[in-house]
Amino acid sequence: MAHYGDVSSRADLPSTPPRFASRGAFTRDLEAETTAYFEGSGRARRDSPRMYVKGVVMMAWLAGSWTLLVFGARNGVEATLCALSVGLAIAGIGMSVQHDGNHGAASKHAWVNRLFGCGLDFMGVCSFIWRQKHNICHHTFTNIQGVDHDLDFGSLARLSPEQPRRPWHRWQHLYLWFFYGFLLPKWVFHDDFVVLRSRYIGGHALTPPSRAKLAAFTGWKIFFVMWAIAIPALFHPLWQVLVFHLVACFALGATLGTVFQLAHCTRDAEFPAVTPGRNMGEWSVHQLATTVDFGRSNPILTWFVGGLNFQVEHHLFPKVSHVHYPALSRIVERLAAKHGLQYRSQASFFGAVVAHLAHLRDLGRPVVVASGVTRHATTLAMGGLEIDAGE
Ligand SMILES: [Zn+2]
Repeated sequence: MAHYGDVSSRADLPSTPPRFASRGAFTRDLEAETTAYFEGSGRARRDSPRMYVKGVVMMAWLAGSWTLLVFGARNGVEATLCALSVGLAIAGIGMSVQHDGNHGAASKHAWVNRLFGCGLDFMGVCSFIWRQKHNICHHTFTNIQGVDHDLDFGSLARLSPEQPRRPWHRWQHLYLWFFYGFLLPKWVFHDDFVVLRSRYIGGHALTPPSRAKLAAFTGWKIFFVMWAIAIPALFHPLWQVLVFHLVACFALGATLGTVFQLAHCTRDAEFPAVTPGRNMGEWSVHQLATTVDFGRSNPILTWFVGGLNFQVEHHLFPKVSHVHYPALSRIVERLAAKHGLQYRSQASFFGAVVAHLAHLRDLGRPVVVASGVTRHATTLAMGGLEIDAGE
């Protein structure tokens, strides 16, 4: 089942990764109906003209905003607006262009996917590392503590009930939004270097990079610093360049962080506990349990976030162009109901933000201990047994 996850790379996983059951009735039905959808209509899974147009529009948006920021802005207000536009344009490229490319979902031609995937290198993040972190660790082991690297914010946040609670997590639903704004500098100047040095992403051993990959790593980092900081600094004082660079980074990070978190780190999603030897069940059912759609009827949101509001479909069909997700969501929802499975979806973007905020607040509350059993705070909040065991 070539379009189900990037399981071909599972050989790279840690020695005892969680195991999934073989395909069951839900997966078989899903395969049959989606195959009928594509073959019955003559639609191609990839190489959608809409994707190519979108890629050009997004790049033009970035080029126009950057040019105006460096050469057109006449005062601080105009520069701020241009920097915000630069940040949102890069966020759009991150969600709509590089994401499909690095999943192999943009085209049936590998070189086209690589070209789209370079959108990530262009924004300073190493696509070679990201493909392993995102396609393998996150997509295969979604919301499983210890292997889904997207859950790891260090001690700054508690995103899974499996993570230890710290006293400051009580306020994480308030402060974490601010830290999302620094995601890009963290990826570009810290995380990539840590992974390259340690050769590990959490417990996942990084595929050894070739000399060409190491050269590309260095070259793209330099290229990013050149277009984002050095060239603008030829025309403006460095401090001004850094200020508006941070404004752009903040708009970008806040957008990416929020969109990514709404689909998994939410009150609506499950966080399965892993015990040694446990079989996690059917993989596609696991994806349904740990992933949430939002704002499915909002076409502007769908366009800008590259279908990431149809995250259930993205996780089930990561190698299918995101332009097909709205149609596929109707199939997935119907089959989920047929098999008695919960299809998780928030009607609006705002509703998803509230659910994410509630999740952060729930996990930030003091851990509850009753009858010698430690539980998540929300478990017993109704019973009034909440005590401060975590501080
Ligand atoms: Zn993805």
